[in-house]
Amino acid sequence: MKKRGITLLLVLALLAGVLPAHAAEASGPKLAAITFDDGPGPYTNSLLDGLEQRGVAVTFFMLGCQAAQYPAVVKRAYEAGHQIASHTYSHPQLTQLGSKSVQKQLADTAAVLNQATGTRNTYMVRPPYGSVNAHVLSLLNAPAVLWTVDTLDWQSRNADAIYQHIVNDTKDGSIVLLHDIYATTVSGALRGIDALLAQGYELVTVSELLRRRGYDAAPGRKYSSAPGRVTLPGIAQPAIAADEREDGRYVTLTADAGTAIYYTLDGTAPTSQSAVYTGPFLLEKAGTVKAFAAYSLNGARSQVSELALEEPRLKAPVITLANESAVITANGDIHYTLDGTEPTAASECYTGPVPLPAGTIIRAAAMRPGYQDSPVSSLLHSERGNLFSDVLPTAAYYHAVDEAVSLGVLAAEGQAFFPERPVTRQELAEVLYRLDGRAAGLQILNGYEEDAAGLDAPVTREGLAAALFQIWGEAPDDSRPPTKLYGFADWMDIHIEAWDAMDWVVANGVLNGVSETVLAPRSAVTRGQLASILMRSQGFWAGAEALA
Ligand code: ZN
Repeated sequence: MKKRGITLLLVLALLAGVLPAHAAEASGPKLAAITFDDGPGPYTNSLLDGLEQRGVAVTFFMLGCQAAQYPAVVKRAYEAGHQIASHTYSHPQLTQLGSKSVQKQLADTAAVLNQATGTRNTYMVRPPYGSVNAHVLSLLNAPAVLWTVDTLDWQSRNADAIYQHIVNDTKDGSIVLLHDIYATTVSGALRGIDALLAQGYELVTVSELLRRRGYDAAPGRKYSSAPGRVTLPGIAQPAIAADEREDGRYVTLTADAGTAIYYTLDGTAPTSQSAVYTGPFLLEKAGTVKAFAAYSLNGARSQVSELALEEPRLKAPVITLANESAVITANGDIHYTLDGTEPTAASECYTGPVPLPAGTIIRAAAMRPGYQDSPVSSLLHSERGNLFSDVLPTAAYYHAVDEAVSLGVLAAEGQAFFPERPVTRQELAEVLYRLDGRAAGLQILNGYEEDAAGLDAPVTREGLAAALFQIWGEAPDDSRPPTKLYGFADWMDIHIEAWDAMDWVVANGVLNGVSETVLAPRSAVTRGQLASILMRSQGFWAGAEALA
């Protein structure tokens, strides 16, 4: 018998070790609820100022008769995210009243609070003097809330004593009783709040304290504290995201499941009267989205999230060629130029197809009030009849690109040639194989660096020279003219393995310096540059192989 008792104790001890309550006490945040009775009064506004500075939400158990005198203060406290609760209308001892009178005390108070906040809420009740019994509880449509810590502020009227009570008596899960009708309470409470925050307490409303500790806060229940069992997380700030879709820019708000999100778009602080989020919405103008989340507006609110959004940008116009004319579509007014310059609002306005003979370029942008101008779209109808969206006739490589595409040496992707994109080793191997099947066996894909870069690594200028030299170059002999490489200030950058190749391409005018004195052997080759180099080396490859 005795032995069995010990075993049972041991089992209980082991169980206690794994209960969530134990874990929460050990590692979860310490929570406490600060509450104020008998107001609002002449000091409540300065208390609200102090709470706002500290970002702390509390619970006000208001008297109906006081709330009726200070409706603006009630509204302010509510919109600041404090919990509004009832302390009856005129502070009677409820246990000494009949049912009808109890209900009238509560209904009259709720009416005043609803009127002041512009809502229809149910309000937790703190019975005056803590005087409550089963009969009174049975008449409530919300929980009754008593307290853990009595600061005796009404008695001492001494800020230091109030502060000491708060600091010495508050424990995890405590509900702290104060009265915001004394100036001494306001200063003592704010100092006490600072001390609790410094000790790591999270100060929350009563409703939030019960929720986070897993209590259901049902009508007729009585709570005087919420010690650690589980501790649920606080209410997360909503996440605000904006994304461009086919028909415009959409704003998406996300927050904890079970919360409602209240938001504004004009930069003002969201309130209980603000729009409630129901799903992604179009925001076709500039605006600042501000939002908070709440399980119940009269419980606790998350911090406000904010995202400033510029005016949405119009999509780039789409330009196609039909019957030798440019046809442009866009979601706004279209302005265009035919001289290669960037279009502005002062440029020609598009009203219908614009003749675009070979050798001309049209550039267009869409504009519309309330939107940012679109990016500029271009369509170059080249001299050889090719269409390019990203080649300007002023570019050094224009004629070479036009020729290379017409010859099938290089290909555009639709109307895009990507002239500034670096050429990869894979891409160069394919181009050279098309020009000369022998290129398939070359070692052109190996760089000179030790990194053994892959097929998608960019080709350097000396790497390209080496490839061309391996296919079409001749072995150097004594009849070759003296090298021109020493004329470039950066000749020392040439890898020794690439020297003969560089010497050959420069001597034959296939590769020139990027300036009079700079050869830049290790810079990447762009597709525009590759077109120029290949067209200059046509004398070597033309006719070597039929182009695919
Ligand atoms: Zn009271």
